[in-house]
Amino acid sequence: MRSRTVAVLLACVIGACAPAEPPLTLYEFDCGVIRFESVTMFGIEDDETDVRDLFVPCYVVEHPAGSLLWEGGLPSGLAEAGDWVESPPVLLRLDQTLADQLPGIGHALDTFDYMAFSHMHFDHVGVANEVQGATLLIQQAEFDAAFADSVTVPYFDPSLYESLRNTPRELLDGEHDVFGDGRVRIIPAPGHTPGHQVLLVDLAEEGPVVLAGDLYHFRENRSGKRVPVINVDSELTVATMDHIEQFVIDQGAQLWIEHDMAAFLERQSRSTVHR
Ligand SMILES: [Zn+2]
Repeated sequence: MRSRTVAVLLACVIGACAPAEPPLTLYEFDCGVIRFESVTMFGIEDDETDVRDLFVPCYVVEHPAGSLLWEGGLPSGLAEAGDWVESPPVLLRLDQTLADQLPGIGHALDTFDYMAFSHMHFDHVGVANEVQGATLLIQQAEFDAAFADSVTVPYFDPSLYESLRNTPRELLDGEHDVFGDGRVRIIPAPGHTPGHQVLLVDLAEEGPVVLAGDLYHFRENRSGKRVPVINVDSELTVATMDHIEQFVIDQGAQLWIEHDMAAFLERQSRSTVHR
């Protein structure tokens, strides 16, 4: 007993007896793959990269004050095929639905406090209609574009997110501190779509991570500041790239290109649970 007291006192002397910050956990899930024949739509020539498969992730952030689903992956129905599904000009594949993967971390599609998507493209909102009871965190500009009388943004498919029209929501116009302690923050990053956003997750061991949505698809988009031809505003995209890169530097953060399959596989070889 006495030696334990001494140990605690010693710990206090070296500053280690401060109350530990409640844990924050980031989980990564495989929510599909998109296979391209050509990558020129991303502003990259086909001979510049061998990469043709874009990974499609979903993430869960577990915070002491609640949980957040970030990204919804490819539509769940694709899993029924158990193989590649043709969706010209691409092939799509989903080996396991998110609903089937969530019990592994004690969640289901009706246990989240919040849900947010970097943007409303079909490969980011696949489970949107299945999520129940979560408050949607979305930029006003993205909501307006997604639910316009006639949807004009390419690759928005309102049938995939129709239920979000009436789900509880917080319409954002800028940054949003999800749990109020600065550790999980939505940062606006428009250009790819009108209200595209990225997520900062400030992990204790891994350090701050920016889940960058579709700010970049390929590493070449980042290194060469190359804008996909499908973006709604290329000038705004470049300004956003500059803004987020400065933010990454200021935060001392890693930036994860969400569609980067090789980076995911490298992380997965260690763990898909990050603290
Ligand atoms: Zn995408």
